[in-house]
Amino acid sequence: MILALVTLALTAHAADPHAAGVAPEVALSRLVDGNRRYIADKPIHPGQRAADRTRVSKGQTPHTMVLTCADSRVGPELLFDQGLGDLFVVRAAGNNVDDHLVASLEYAEEHLGSRLLVVMGHTACGAVKAAATTPAGTSAGSPSLDALVADIQTCMGPLTPAQLKDPTLRDAVHANAVGAGKALLAESPLLRHAVETGHLQVVPAVYDLASGFVTFDAPLQASPSTGPTPAHEAAAPAAAKPAQGDDHGATHGEAPHH
Ligand SMILES: [Zn+2]
Repeated sequence: MILALVTLALTAHAADPHAAGVAPEVALSRLVDGNRRYIADKPIHPGQRAADRTRVSKGQTPHTMVLTCADSRVGPELLFDQGLGDLFVVRAAGNNVDDHLVASLEYAEEHLGSRLLVVMGHTACGAVKAAATTPAGTSAGSPSLDALVADIQTCMGPLTPAQLKDPTLRDAVHANAVGAGKALLAESPLLRHAVETGHLQVVPAVYDLASGFVTFDAPLQASPSTGPTPAHEAAAPAAAKPAQGDDHGATHGEAPHH
């Protein structure tokens, strides 16, 4: 009986199409393909049957980590047409991280073998809008909201009047996704090391609520300039602002996926 169970477990493991440590480029192609199916209204809903539930009950090797907003209109498994055990998803309003969320991502990278981390904002994000429209020195409504708004303001940097008028807030959302990714690497030596050694890619992205399209940036570099100090604890906010030049990375990085 025991032998039979062991054999069954080994068979199930061998049959698992999601081997640990899927290359970042392969993981990204799965997301791009799944997003195309979702946009075309032709999802195949992979990995969502009873047999898949049984398979993943024995363990998980998610090919991608996703850090995204808590917004009810942003469902990573839906918009990437992925299944059980495919995505390790961490969510918080504004897709910024605190210590517990960093720990979750470190766990997935270190113990589950995930080699791609997508930091995904979305158009018309309420948290980004709150950060964009809350003047310095005023409260967003509570101490917790004030802390969230301050983190997002640090990540996205100053906005032009034209950017503030855009109802989609696309530029601000993109800057916040890039800034959140950089803050994550600044805060986590483990993830930074994984990027430096080529084991992990951190890719900012923006999800368009109306079209369903996800635009991916080129992977972030683990620049020493990000430093060991967590961005949200930096004494001078100006020191942690993402460079304006980063916006050009989006145009460059998204080209291969159009
Ligand atoms: Zn949001």
